[in-house]
Amino acid sequence: MTHAPRMIDPTTPSATSYPETPRTTLQRMPARGTYDRAVVHAILDEALVCHMGFVQDGVPFVIPTTFVRDGEMLYVHGAVASRTLKLLASGAPIGVTVTLVDGLVLARTAFHHSMNYRSVVILGRARELWDPAEKRRIFAKLVDKVSPGRAAKVREPNDKELRATSLLAIPLVEVSAKVRTGMPKAEDDAADAVAPVWAGVVPLRLMAAPAKAENEDAEQYMLPRLPAWA
Ligand SMILES: Cc1cc2nc3c(=O)[nH]c(=O)nc-3n(C[C@H](O)[C@H](O)[C@H](O)COP(=O)(O)OP(=O)(O)OC[C@H]3O[C@@H](n4cnc5c(N)ncnc54)[C@H](O)[C@@H]3O)c2cc1C
Repeated sequence: MTHAPRMIDPTTPSATSYPETPRTTLQRMPARGTYDRAVVHAILDEALVCHMGFVQDGVPFVIPTTFVRDGEMLYVHGAVASRTLKLLASGAPIGVTVTLVDGLVLARTAFHHSMNYRSVVILGRARELWDPAEKRRIFAKLVDKVSPGRAAKVREPNDKELRATSLLAIPLVEVSAKVRTGMPKAEDDAADAVAPVWAGVVPLRLMAAPAKAENEDAEQYMLPRLPAWA
């Protein structure tokens, strides 16, 4: 069954959800889709890595990188020499995906194997930020994302480091999320449904292992209030 796209102006603001656009309308399994800002924000805040997709000279690249969300903006950074960031700063269209894998879904037939997941797709264009104070603020958020409270403890970037680092902002305007939860789908054949093979879900979680110090003489590393993923 096809799901007719709703023609909505992507600039129409809504307090609770992103507008569904022709480009973000889920055709496959639309029941798993959501445009809820809170769901999208939670996925973005939990994930450590995003993948930036763009086309350069006819070649589709998908480049992984770290990121942080602040309000309705997603920030990525890197060396000023970065080919990817230079292209994106020029206004090239970008598609960003963020994926959290929550479980392995093991069915009684090969066909119904799946994964539980939460993912986000963002379509848009980036713009470069130049204001040193704004760059420092976002870099502090990037540090705090991986270790809350750490930005206040470490030296902040100096002018030279700021100049060496590009910071791009991608507005959260055209955004979709997709979430799969639960057990394997019911098998189509009655014989498959009672096959004597283990079926169910193996939950997966990203966890921090005990920290290894580089400078044993420095203060003990106290595990801060951990992000949701740990
Ligand atoms: C960990 C993981 C494993 C997956 N494994 C498979 C697999 O093995 N086979 C498979 O077919 N699919 C898999 N999916 C789902 C896959 O991401 C697509 O949703 C699906 O393949 C439909 O693709 P489509 O191009 O037909 O999407 P459409 O439904 O045509 O996409 C239209 C729009 O819907 C939105 N959208 C689509 N997919 C997603 C998504 N995942 N997250 C957020 N927004 C989305 C985007 O805005 C997109 O532009 C997996 C997803 C995850 C996260």
